[in-house]
Amino acid sequence: MNLASYIKRSVREYSDRIAVRMGDSELTYAQLDRKARSLAAHLSTNGFAQGDKLGLYLPNCPEYLIVLYATWMLGGVAVPINYRFRQDELSFVFTDSEISWLVLSEEDSFRLHDILGSRPDLRLLLQGDSQRSTHTLLTDIYLSETNEVSITPCRDYDDAMLMYTSGTTGKPKGVRQTHRTNSASIEMVIDAWKLTSRDHLLGTFPMFHVGGLQCTTLPSLFSGGTITLIPRWSPMDWVSISREWKPTWSGLISTMLVDVVNYLKSSRENPNSFAGYRFCFFGGSPTPSVFCDYFEAAIGVSLFEIYGQTELSGLIVTYQLEERRISGSMGKPMAQVVETKIVSADGKRLIAPGEEEAGVMYLKGDVVTPGYWKRDELNQERFVDGWLKTGDIVRWDENGYLFYTDRFDDLIVTGGENVYPKEVESILAEHPAVAEVAVIGTPHPRWIEQVTAIVVIRDATATVQDIDSFCLQHRGLAGYKRPRRIEIVQELPKTGSGKINKSVLKQQYREDLTSEEEAN
Ligand code: ATP
Repeated sequence: MNLASYIKRSVREYSDRIAVRMGDSELTYAQLDRKARSLAAHLSTNGFAQGDKLGLYLPNCPEYLIVLYATWMLGGVAVPINYRFRQDELSFVFTDSEISWLVLSEEDSFRLHDILGSRPDLRLLLQGDSQRSTHTLLTDIYLSETNEVSITPCRDYDDAMLMYTSGTTGKPKGVRQTHRTNSASIEMVIDAWKLTSRDHLLGTFPMFHVGGLQCTTLPSLFSGGTITLIPRWSPMDWVSISREWKPTWSGLISTMLVDVVNYLKSSRENPNSFAGYRFCFFGGSPTPSVFCDYFEAAIGVSLFEIYGQTELSGLIVTYQLEERRISGSMGKPMAQVVETKIVSADGKRLIAPGEEEAGVMYLKGDVVTPGYWKRDELNQERFVDGWLKTGDIVRWDENGYLFYTDRFDDLIVTGGENVYPKEVESILAEHPAVAEVAVIGTPHPRWIEQVTAIVVIRDATATVQDIDSFCLQHRGLAGYKRPRRIEIVQELPKTGSGKINKSVLKQQYREDLTSEEEAN
Protein backbone atom coordinates (compact mmCIF):
# COMPACT_ATOMS: atom_id res chain seq x y z
CA MET A 1 0.00 0.00 0.00
CA ASN A 2 1.40 3.36 -1.05
CA LEU A 3 -0.41 6.20 -2.82
CA ALA A 4 2.61 6.59 -5.10
CA SER A 5 1.80 3.19 -6.68
CA TYR A 6 -1.50 4.54 -8.01
CA ILE A 7 0.32 7.36 -9.81
CA LYS A 8 2.97 4.92 -11.03
CA ARG A 9 0.24 2.84 -12.66
CA SER A 10 -0.91 5.88 -14.65
CA VAL A 11 2.72 6.60 -15.58
CA ARG A 12 3.08 3.07 -16.98
CA GLU A 13 -0.20 3.11 -18.88
CA TYR A 14 -0.38 6.71 -20.12
CA SER A 15 3.20 7.94 -20.18
CA ASP A 16 2.77 10.35 -23.13
CA ARG A 17 -0.51 11.88 -21.98
CA ILE A 18 -0.59 15.29 -20.36
CA ALA A 19 -0.94 14.79 -16.62
CA VAL A 20 -1.10 18.46 -15.67
CA ARG A 21 -0.92 21.85 -17.32
CA MET A 22 -1.01 25.41 -16.13
CA GLY A 23 -0.68 28.36 -18.50
CA ASP A 24 2.07 27.49 -20.98
CA SER A 25 3.70 24.76 -18.95
CA GLU A 26 2.63 21.15 -19.12
CA LEU A 27 3.89 17.79 -17.88
CA THR A 28 3.26 14.39 -19.38
CA TYR A 29 2.99 11.44 -17.01
CA ALA A 30 6.53 10.40 -18.04
CA GLN A 31 7.89 13.88 -17.22
CA LEU A 32 6.04 13.98 -13.92
CA ASP A 33 7.58 10.63 -13.03
CA ARG A 34 11.10 11.62 -14.06
CA LYS A 35 11.07 14.84 -12.04
CA ALA A 36 9.54 13.11 -9.01
CA ARG A 37 12.23 10.39 -9.19
CA SER A 38 15.00 13.03 -9.28
CA LEU A 39 13.48 14.76 -6.28
CA ALA A 40 13.00 11.50 -4.37
CA ALA A 41 16.63 10.56 -5.06
CA HIS A 42 17.82 13.95 -3.81
CA LEU A 43 15.71 13.71 -0.64
CA SER A 44 16.81 10.18 0.06
CA THR A 45 20.52 10.97 -0.46
CA ASN A 46 20.10 13.84 1.99
CA GLY A 47 18.64 11.72 4.74
CA PHE A 48 14.88 11.91 4.16
CA ALA A 49 13.46 8.61 5.43
CA GLN A 50 10.14 6.82 5.69
CA GLY A 51 7.77 8.64 8.07
CA ASP A 52 9.61 11.99 7.71
CA LYS A 53 7.42 15.02 7.09
CA LEU A 54 7.75 17.44 4.21
CA GLY A 55 5.78 20.70 4.10
CA LEU A 56 4.41 22.16 0.88
CA TYR A 57 3.89 25.90 1.02
CA LEU A 58 3.06 26.62 -2.61
CA PRO A 59 0.21 28.15 -4.56
CA ASN A 60 -1.53 25.83 -7.03
CA CYS A 61 1.04 24.62 -9.57
CA PRO A 62 2.11 21.39 -11.32
CA GLU A 63 5.09 21.20 -8.95
CA TYR A 64 2.69 20.38 -6.11
CA LEU A 65 1.97 17.00 -7.65
CA ILE A 66 5.65 16.25 -8.31
CA VAL A 67 6.51 16.96 -4.67
CA LEU A 68 3.61 14.88 -3.31
CA TYR A 69 4.50 11.94 -5.54
CA ALA A 70 8.20 12.08 -4.60
CA THR A 71 7.37 12.27 -0.88
CA TRP A 72 5.09 9.23 -1.07
CA MET A 73 7.65 7.26 -3.14
CA LEU A 74 9.88 7.39 -0.05
CA GLY A 75 7.04 6.63 2.40
CA GLY A 76 7.15 10.23 3.67
CA VAL A 77 4.28 12.30 5.02
CA ALA A 78 3.25 15.34 2.96
CA VAL A 79 2.05 18.39 4.89
CA PRO A 80 0.11 20.72 2.56
CA ILE A 81 0.13 24.16 4.19
CA ASN A 82 -2.64 26.67 3.62
CA TYR A 83 -1.13 29.27 1.31
CA ARG A 84 -3.29 31.98 2.87
CA PHE A 85 -2.41 31.34 6.49
CA ARG A 86 -1.40 34.44 8.44
CA GLN A 87 2.20 34.60 9.65
CA ASP A 88 1.27 33.54 13.21
CA GLU A 89 -0.61 30.51 11.82
CA LEU A 90 2.33 29.60 9.61
CA SER A 91 4.73 29.87 12.47
CA PHE A 92 2.45 27.56 14.51
CA VAL A 93 2.15 24.99 11.72
CA PHE A 94 5.89 24.94 10.90
CA THR A 95 6.56 23.91 14.49
CA ASP A 96 3.44 21.88 15.35
CA SER A 97 3.70 19.63 12.29
CA GLU A 98 7.34 18.65 12.99
CA ILE A 99 8.20 18.92 9.29
CA SER A 100 11.88 18.42 8.57
CA TRP A 101 11.76 19.69 4.95
CA LEU A 102 9.85 22.54 3.37
CA VAL A 103 9.20 23.32 -0.29
CA LEU A 104 8.34 26.96 -1.04
CA SER A 105 9.05 29.63 -3.61
CA GLU A 106 12.28 31.57 -3.46
CA GLU A 107 10.24 34.74 -3.01
CA ASP A 108 8.32 33.31 -0.05
CA SER A 109 11.58 32.16 1.54
CA PHE A 110 12.63 35.83 1.71
CA ARG A 111 9.20 37.03 2.81
CA LEU A 112 9.05 34.47 5.62
CA HIS A 113 12.66 34.91 6.63
CA ASP A 114 11.86 35.73 10.29
CA ILE A 115 9.44 32.86 10.80
CA LEU A 116 11.80 30.40 9.17
CA GLY A 117 14.48 31.67 11.57
CA SER A 118 12.61 29.93 14.39
CA ARG A 119 13.22 26.57 12.68
CA PRO A 120 16.90 26.77 11.67
CA ASP A 121 16.99 22.97 11.36
CA LEU A 122 14.39 23.01 8.56
CA ARG A 123 15.78 21.96 5.15
CA LEU A 124 14.43 24.20 2.40
CA LEU A 125 13.88 23.37 -1.27
CA LEU A 126 13.04 26.34 -3.42
CA GLN A 127 10.83 26.82 -6.44
CA GLY A 128 12.32 29.46 -8.76
CA ASP A 129 15.52 29.87 -10.70
CA SER A 130 17.12 33.18 -9.77
CA GLN A 131 19.91 31.62 -7.63
CA ARG A 132 19.73 34.50 -5.14
CA SER A 133 19.45 32.06 -2.29
CA THR A 134 21.90 29.55 -0.87
CA HIS A 135 19.21 26.85 -0.64
CA THR A 136 18.78 24.10 -3.21
CA LEU A 137 16.55 24.85 -6.19
CA LEU A 138 14.08 22.27 -7.45
CA THR A 139 15.03 23.13 -11.04
CA ASP A 140 18.64 22.04 -10.31
CA ILE A 141 17.45 18.78 -8.78
CA TYR A 142 15.38 17.99 -11.87
CA LEU A 143 18.50 18.27 -14.05
CA SER A 144 20.00 15.13 -12.53
CA GLU A 145 19.28 11.88 -14.32
CA THR A 146 17.85 9.21 -12.04
CA ASN A 147 17.12 5.53 -12.38
CA GLU A 148 13.96 3.89 -11.22
CA VAL A 149 13.20 4.63 -7.57
CA SER A 150 11.51 1.72 -5.86
CA ILE A 151 8.35 2.71 -4.03
CA THR A 152 8.63 2.19 -0.27
CA PRO A 153 5.97 -0.22 0.96
CA CYS A 154 3.73 1.35 3.61
CA ARG A 155 1.05 -0.06 5.88
CA ASP A 156 -2.61 0.91 5.48
CA TYR A 157 -2.49 2.91 8.67
CA ASP A 158 0.76 4.79 7.95
CA ASP A 159 0.23 8.51 7.59
CA ALA A 160 0.46 9.85 4.03
CA MET A 161 -0.61 13.42 4.77
CA LEU A 162 -1.08 15.77 7.65
CA MET A 163 -3.57 18.36 6.50
CA TYR A 164 -4.39 21.45 8.53
CA THR A 165 -7.97 22.73 8.52
CA SER A 166 -8.44 26.41 7.99
CA GLY A 167 -8.65 27.14 11.68
CA THR A 168 -11.87 29.10 11.66
CA THR A 169 -12.46 27.58 15.07
CA GLY A 170 -9.15 28.43 16.77
CA LYS A 171 -5.60 27.31 16.00
CA PRO A 172 -5.23 25.22 12.83
CA LYS A 173 -5.78 21.54 13.57
CA GLY A 174 -3.55 18.94 11.91
CA VAL A 175 -5.68 16.07 10.61
CA ARG A 176 -3.91 12.75 10.04
CA GLN A 177 -4.75 11.04 6.76
CA THR A 178 -3.33 7.59 6.03
CA HIS A 179 -2.59 5.78 2.78
CA ARG A 180 -5.81 3.85 3.38
CA THR A 181 -8.12 6.81 4.16
CA ASN A 182 -6.87 8.50 1.01
CA SER A 183 -6.97 5.53 -1.34
CA ALA A 184 -10.48 4.58 -0.15
CA SER A 185 -11.72 8.11 -0.73
CA ILE A 186 -10.07 8.58 -4.12
CA GLU A 187 -11.10 5.17 -5.49
CA MET A 188 -14.67 5.87 -4.42
CA VAL A 189 -14.66 9.19 -6.34
CA ILE A 190 -13.29 7.53 -9.49
CA ASP A 191 -15.93 4.86 -9.29
CA ALA A 192 -18.90 7.17 -8.54
CA TRP A 193 -18.08 9.61 -11.33
CA LYS A 194 -16.71 7.02 -13.79
CA LEU A 195 -13.45 8.90 -14.30
CA THR A 196 -11.15 7.59 -17.01
CA SER A 197 -7.96 8.63 -18.77
CA ARG A 198 -10.11 10.49 -21.32
CA ASP A 199 -11.32 12.91 -18.66
CA HIS A 200 -10.01 16.41 -18.28
CA LEU A 201 -10.32 18.27 -14.99
CA LEU A 202 -10.43 22.02 -14.61
CA GLY A 203 -8.82 22.34 -11.18
CA THR A 204 -9.98 25.28 -9.11
CA PHE A 205 -9.81 24.36 -5.42
CA PRO A 206 -6.64 25.20 -3.51
CA MET A 207 -4.33 22.20 -3.39
CA PHE A 208 -3.70 22.46 0.34
CA HIS A 209 -7.33 21.41 0.82
CA VAL A 210 -9.18 18.10 0.35
CA GLY A 211 -11.17 19.81 -2.40
CA GLY A 212 -7.97 20.44 -4.35
CA LEU A 213 -6.32 17.06 -3.75
CA GLN A 214 -8.60 14.13 -2.86
CA CYS A 215 -11.76 15.40 -4.59
CA THR A 216 -10.14 16.49 -7.84
CA THR A 217 -6.45 16.34 -8.80
CA LEU A 218 -5.63 12.98 -7.18
CA PRO A 219 -8.61 11.11 -8.71
CA SER A 220 -7.51 12.59 -12.05
CA LEU A 221 -3.90 11.43 -11.62
CA PHE A 222 -4.95 7.99 -10.35
CA SER A 223 -7.14 7.44 -13.41
CA GLY A 224 -4.65 8.77 -15.97
CA GLY A 225 -6.63 11.92 -16.80
CA THR A 226 -5.48 15.45 -17.59
CA ILE A 227 -5.61 18.40 -15.20
CA THR A 228 -5.68 22.06 -16.19
CA LEU A 229 -5.00 24.24 -13.17
CA ILE A 230 -6.20 27.76 -12.50
CA PRO A 231 -3.32 29.34 -10.57
CA ARG A 232 -5.42 31.91 -8.76
CA TRP A 233 -9.20 31.78 -8.59
CA SER A 234 -11.01 34.03 -11.06
CA PRO A 235 -14.50 33.32 -12.46
CA MET A 236 -13.45 34.93 -15.72
CA ASP A 237 -10.57 32.46 -16.09
CA TRP A 238 -12.84 29.56 -15.21
CA VAL A 239 -15.19 30.61 -18.00
CA SER A 240 -12.47 31.27 -20.58
CA ILE A 241 -10.55 28.02 -19.85
CA SER A 242 -13.84 26.10 -19.96
CA ARG A 243 -14.41 27.55 -23.40
CA GLU A 244 -10.89 27.10 -24.72
CA TRP A 245 -9.90 23.69 -23.34
CA LYS A 246 -13.28 22.01 -23.05
CA PRO A 247 -12.61 20.21 -19.76
CA THR A 248 -14.98 17.34 -18.93
CA TRP A 249 -15.36 18.02 -15.20
CA SER A 250 -14.77 20.68 -12.61
CA GLY A 251 -15.48 21.23 -8.93
CA LEU A 252 -16.27 24.54 -7.29
CA ILE A 253 -16.33 25.65 -3.69
CA SER A 254 -19.76 27.14 -3.06
CA THR A 255 -18.43 30.71 -3.08
CA MET A 256 -16.78 30.05 -6.47
CA LEU A 257 -20.09 28.85 -7.86
CA VAL A 258 -21.62 32.14 -6.69
CA ASP A 259 -18.74 34.04 -8.34
CA VAL A 260 -19.31 32.26 -11.66
CA VAL A 261 -23.04 32.99 -11.52
CA ASN A 262 -22.45 36.66 -10.73
CA TYR A 263 -19.91 36.84 -13.55
CA LEU A 264 -22.25 35.14 -16.04
CA LYS A 265 -25.04 37.52 -15.07
CA SER A 266 -22.87 40.53 -15.75
CA SER A 267 -21.39 39.24 -19.04
CA ARG A 268 -22.91 37.98 -22.24
CA GLU A 269 -21.37 34.53 -22.42
CA ASN A 270 -22.69 32.09 -24.96
CA PRO A 271 -23.78 28.97 -23.04
CA ASN A 272 -22.83 26.70 -25.96
CA SER A 273 -19.22 27.58 -25.34
CA PHE A 274 -19.21 25.27 -22.30
CA ALA A 275 -20.12 22.18 -24.27
CA GLY A 276 -17.27 19.94 -23.05
CA TYR A 277 -18.49 19.21 -19.52
CA ARG A 278 -19.80 15.82 -18.43
CA PHE A 279 -20.54 17.23 -14.97
CA CYS A 280 -19.65 19.90 -12.41
CA PHE A 281 -19.98 19.69 -8.66
CA PHE A 282 -19.88 22.08 -5.75
CA GLY A 283 -19.68 21.89 -1.98
CA GLY A 284 -17.77 23.01 1.02
CA SER A 285 -20.37 25.32 2.52
CA PRO A 286 -24.09 26.03 2.21
CA THR A 287 -25.13 27.38 -1.18
CA PRO A 288 -28.46 29.07 -1.89
CA SER A 289 -30.28 26.97 -4.47
CA VAL A 290 -31.07 29.94 -6.76
CA PHE A 291 -27.35 30.08 -7.64
CA CYS A 292 -27.28 26.34 -8.45
CA ASP A 293 -30.37 26.57 -10.63
CA TYR A 294 -28.92 29.54 -12.54
CA PHE A 295 -25.57 27.79 -13.06
CA GLU A 296 -27.17 24.59 -14.30
CA ALA A 297 -29.47 26.42 -16.70
CA ALA A 298 -26.85 28.88 -18.00
CA ILE A 299 -24.14 26.31 -18.60
CA GLY A 300 -26.40 23.41 -19.47
CA VAL A 301 -24.30 21.00 -17.47
CA SER A 302 -25.35 18.56 -14.86
CA LEU A 303 -24.43 20.09 -11.50
CA PHE A 304 -24.55 18.26 -8.19
CA GLU A 305 -23.54 18.86 -4.63
CA ILE A 306 -21.00 16.99 -2.54
CA TYR A 307 -20.19 16.96 1.15
CA GLY A 308 -16.72 16.38 2.51
CA GLN A 309 -14.36 17.17 5.34
CA THR A 310 -10.61 17.15 5.95
CA GLU A 311 -11.27 14.52 8.64
CA LEU A 312 -12.73 12.26 5.92
CA SER A 313 -9.85 12.59 3.43
CA GLY A 314 -12.26 14.20 0.98
CA LEU A 315 -15.88 13.78 0.08
CA ILE A 316 -18.22 11.08 1.37
CA VAL A 317 -21.62 12.24 0.20
CA THR A 318 -22.30 12.51 -3.51
CA TYR A 319 -24.33 11.23 -6.44
CA GLN A 320 -23.54 8.44 -8.86
CA LEU A 321 -23.54 10.06 -12.29
CA GLU A 322 -26.53 8.13 -13.53
CA GLU A 323 -28.58 9.00 -10.46
CA ARG A 324 -31.48 11.42 -10.62
CA ARG A 325 -30.73 14.52 -8.52
CA ILE A 326 -32.98 15.38 -5.60
CA SER A 327 -33.38 19.13 -5.28
CA GLY A 328 -31.51 20.52 -2.27
CA SER A 329 -29.87 17.19 -1.38
CA MET A 330 -26.11 16.57 -1.31
CA GLY A 331 -26.69 12.96 -2.37
CA LYS A 332 -26.19 9.79 -0.34
CA PRO A 333 -23.35 8.84 2.00
CA MET A 334 -21.12 6.41 0.10
CA ALA A 335 -21.78 3.17 1.96
CA GLN A 336 -18.58 1.51 0.69
CA VAL A 337 -16.46 3.97 2.70
CA VAL A 338 -18.63 5.15 5.62
CA GLU A 339 -21.37 4.08 7.98
CA THR A 340 -23.64 6.98 8.89
CA LYS A 341 -25.82 7.75 11.87
CA ILE A 342 -27.76 10.88 12.72
CA VAL A 343 -28.29 11.64 16.38
CA SER A 344 -30.95 14.02 17.75
CA ALA A 345 -29.72 17.37 19.06
CA ASP A 346 -30.22 16.24 22.69
CA GLY A 347 -28.02 13.21 21.93
CA LYS A 348 -30.67 10.75 23.10
CA ARG A 349 -32.11 9.26 19.94
CA LEU A 350 -31.09 7.96 16.51
CA ILE A 351 -32.98 9.64 13.69
CA ALA A 352 -34.23 7.22 11.06
CA PRO A 353 -34.32 7.97 7.32
CA GLY A 354 -37.60 9.62 6.41
CA GLU A 355 -38.03 11.49 9.70
CA GLU A 356 -38.38 15.25 9.33
CA GLU A 357 -36.07 16.01 12.24
CA ALA A 358 -32.46 17.02 11.68
CA GLY A 359 -29.58 15.91 13.90
CA VAL A 360 -25.81 15.71 14.18
CA MET A 361 -24.10 13.42 11.69
CA TYR A 362 -21.64 10.77 12.96
CA LEU A 363 -19.47 8.67 10.65
CA LYS A 364 -17.32 5.56 10.88
CA GLY A 365 -15.31 3.78 8.18
CA ASP A 366 -12.24 3.49 5.98
CA VAL A 367 -11.98 7.19 5.15
CA VAL A 368 -12.20 8.50 8.71
CA THR A 369 -9.02 10.02 10.14
CA PRO A 370 -7.24 8.08 12.88
CA GLY A 371 -7.23 11.40 14.75
CA TYR A 372 -5.95 14.94 15.11
CA TRP A 373 -2.22 15.41 15.42
CA LYS A 374 -1.16 16.08 19.02
CA ARG A 375 -4.69 17.11 20.12
CA ASP A 376 -5.77 14.53 22.72
CA GLU A 377 -8.58 16.61 24.12
CA LEU A 378 -10.07 17.27 20.71
CA ASN A 379 -9.78 13.58 19.84
CA GLN A 380 -11.75 12.68 22.93
CA GLU A 381 -14.38 15.26 22.11
CA ARG A 382 -14.80 14.36 18.42
CA PHE A 383 -14.57 10.56 18.60
CA VAL A 384 -17.36 8.78 20.44
CA ASP A 385 -17.24 4.94 20.52
CA GLY A 386 -15.26 4.89 17.29
CA TRP A 387 -17.63 7.33 15.54
CA LEU A 388 -16.45 10.72 14.26
CA LYS A 389 -18.78 13.52 15.32
CA THR A 390 -18.82 15.73 12.23
CA GLY A 391 -20.36 18.81 13.90
CA ASP A 392 -22.78 19.15 10.97
CA ILE A 393 -26.54 19.02 11.27
CA VAL A 394 -28.32 17.08 8.52
CA ARG A 395 -31.54 15.20 7.88
CA TRP A 396 -32.28 12.37 5.51
CA ASP A 397 -35.27 11.34 3.45
CA GLU A 398 -36.76 7.86 3.33
CA ASN A 399 -34.33 6.84 0.56
CA GLY A 400 -31.27 7.97 2.48
CA TYR A 401 -30.62 11.24 0.60
CA LEU A 402 -28.98 13.76 2.90
CA PHE A 403 -30.00 17.40 3.27
CA TYR A 404 -27.56 19.78 4.90
CA THR A 405 -29.13 21.92 7.60
CA ASP A 406 -26.15 23.76 9.05
CA ARG A 407 -23.07 23.63 11.17
CA PHE A 408 -23.90 22.98 14.79
CA ASP A 409 -21.69 25.93 15.78
CA ASP A 410 -23.51 28.32 13.42
CA LEU A 411 -26.99 27.58 14.75
CA ILE A 412 -28.69 30.80 16.00
CA VAL A 413 -30.84 30.62 19.10
CA THR A 414 -33.04 33.72 19.22
CA GLY A 415 -35.67 34.16 21.92
CA GLY A 416 -35.58 30.40 22.50
CA GLU A 417 -36.15 29.53 18.83
CA ASN A 418 -33.60 27.76 16.63
CA VAL A 419 -32.76 29.46 13.35
CA TYR A 420 -30.59 27.76 10.75
CA PRO A 421 -28.64 30.45 8.86
CA LYS A 422 -28.62 28.42 5.63
CA GLU A 423 -32.40 28.69 5.33
CA VAL A 424 -32.40 32.48 5.77
CA GLU A 425 -29.43 32.87 3.39
CA SER A 426 -31.29 30.91 0.69
CA ILE A 427 -34.25 33.27 0.94
CA LEU A 428 -32.15 36.46 0.93
CA ALA A 429 -30.27 35.16 -2.14
CA GLU A 430 -33.57 35.21 -4.06
CA HIS A 431 -33.49 39.02 -3.91
CA PRO A 432 -32.20 40.12 -7.35
CA ALA A 433 -29.74 42.66 -5.88
CA VAL A 434 -28.11 40.19 -3.47
CA ALA A 435 -24.76 38.93 -4.79
CA GLU A 436 -23.59 37.17 -1.63
CA VAL A 437 -24.94 36.79 1.89
CA ALA A 438 -24.01 35.45 5.31
CA VAL A 439 -26.40 35.16 8.22
CA ILE A 440 -25.04 35.02 11.76
CA GLY A 441 -26.25 35.42 15.31
CA THR A 442 -25.15 38.57 17.11
CA PRO A 443 -25.56 39.19 20.85
CA HIS A 444 -28.87 40.71 21.92
CA PRO A 445 -29.87 41.82 25.44
CA ARG A 446 -33.35 40.24 25.31
CA TRP A 447 -33.26 37.49 22.71
CA ILE A 448 -29.69 36.36 23.54
CA GLU A 449 -28.93 36.34 19.81
CA GLN A 450 -30.49 38.28 16.97
CA VAL A 451 -30.55 37.13 13.37
CA THR A 452 -28.16 39.37 11.45
CA ALA A 453 -27.65 39.36 7.68
CA ILE A 454 -24.44 40.66 6.12
CA VAL A 455 -25.04 41.27 2.45
CA VAL A 456 -22.99 42.11 -0.63
CA ILE A 457 -25.18 43.74 -3.28
CA ARG A 458 -24.69 43.94 -7.02
CA ASP A 459 -27.09 46.83 -7.52
CA ALA A 460 -25.89 49.94 -5.68
CA THR A 461 -29.40 51.39 -5.55
CA ALA A 462 -30.72 48.57 -3.34
CA THR A 463 -31.11 49.56 0.31
CA VAL A 464 -31.39 47.84 3.67
CA GLN A 465 -35.11 48.77 3.65
CA ASP A 466 -35.61 47.03 0.29
CA ILE A 467 -34.08 43.84 1.59
CA ASP A 468 -36.05 44.06 4.82
CA SER A 469 -39.35 44.55 2.94
CA PHE A 470 -38.47 41.57 0.77
CA CYS A 471 -38.00 39.46 3.90
CA LEU A 472 -41.22 40.75 5.46
CA GLN A 473 -43.20 39.81 2.37
CA HIS A 474 -41.56 36.43 1.85
CA ARG A 475 -44.00 33.70 2.75
CA GLY A 476 -41.28 31.17 3.41
CA LEU A 477 -39.71 33.20 6.22
CA ALA A 478 -41.27 32.90 9.66
CA GLY A 479 -41.25 36.14 11.69
CA TYR A 480 -38.60 35.00 14.19
CA LYS A 481 -36.23 34.07 11.34
CA ARG A 482 -36.38 37.52 9.71
CA PRO A 483 -33.02 39.31 10.09
CA ARG A 484 -33.53 42.16 12.59
CA ARG A 485 -30.26 43.65 11.53
CA ILE A 486 -29.05 43.91 7.93
CA GLU A 487 -25.65 45.26 7.01
CA ILE A 488 -24.52 45.99 3.44
CA VAL A 489 -20.78 45.45 2.95
CA GLN A 490 -18.34 45.55 0.04
CA GLU A 491 -17.15 41.97 0.55
CA LEU A 492 -17.32 39.06 2.96
CA PRO A 493 -14.25 37.65 4.70
CA LYS A 494 -13.17 34.25 3.31
CA THR A 495 -11.14 31.38 4.76
CA GLY A 496 -7.99 30.18 3.01
CA SER A 497 -10.08 27.61 1.16
CA GLY A 498 -12.45 30.33 -0.05
CA LYS A 499 -15.44 29.77 2.27
CA ILE A 500 -17.23 32.64 3.99
CA ASN A 501 -15.47 33.00 7.34
CA LYS A 502 -18.32 33.24 9.81
CA SER A 503 -16.01 33.23 12.83
CA VAL A 504 -14.45 36.48 11.63
CA LEU A 505 -17.90 37.97 11.00
CA LYS A 506 -19.21 36.90 14.42
CA GLN A 507 -16.15 38.38 16.08
CA GLN A 508 -16.37 41.60 14.07
CA TYR A 509 -20.06 42.20 14.78
CA ARG A 510 -19.70 41.24 18.42
CA GLU A 511 -16.97 43.88 18.72
CA ASP A 512 -19.08 46.44 16.83
CA LEU A 513 -21.96 45.93 19.24
CA THR A 514 -19.71 46.13 22.27
CA SER A 515 -18.26 49.43 21.10
CA GLU A 516 -21.78 50.75 20.30
CA GLU A 517 -22.87 49.84 23.84
CA GLU A 518 -19.80 51.53 25.25
CA ALA A 519 -20.55 54.67 23.21
CA ASN A 520 -24.11 54.74 24.59
P1 ATP B 1 -12.32 24.44 10.32
O1 ATP B 1 -12.75 23.06 10.72
O2 ATP B 1 -10.98 24.77 10.81
O3 ATP B 1 -13.33 25.47 10.67
P2 ATP B 1 -13.14 24.04 7.53
O4 ATP B 1 -14.54 24.11 7.94
O5 ATP B 1 -12.78 24.82 6.34
O6 ATP B 1 -12.17 24.45 8.72
P3 ATP B 1 -13.06 21.62 6.02
O7 ATP B 1 -12.64 20.24 6.35
O8 ATP B 1 -12.44 22.30 4.87
O9 ATP B 1 -12.83 22.49 7.32
O10 ATP B 1 -14.61 21.67 5.73
C1 ATP B 1 -15.53 20.72 6.15
C2 ATP B 1 -16.84 21.38 6.48
O11 ATP B 1 -17.36 22.07 5.33
C3 ATP B 1 -17.93 20.41 6.85
O12 ATP B 1 -17.84 19.99 8.19
C4 ATP B 1 -19.19 21.23 6.57
O13 ATP B 1 -19.50 22.08 7.66
C5 ATP B 1 -18.79 22.09 5.39
N1 ATP B 1 -19.34 21.51 4.14
C6 ATP B 1 -18.77 20.63 3.31
N2 ATP B 1 -19.58 20.34 2.28
C7 ATP B 1 -20.72 21.06 2.46
C8 ATP B 1 -21.95 21.20 1.75
N3 ATP B 1 -22.20 20.55 0.62
N4 ATP B 1 -22.88 22.05 2.25
C9 ATP B 1 -22.65 22.73 3.37
N5 ATP B 1 -21.51 22.64 4.10
C10 ATP B 1 -20.56 21.81 3.66
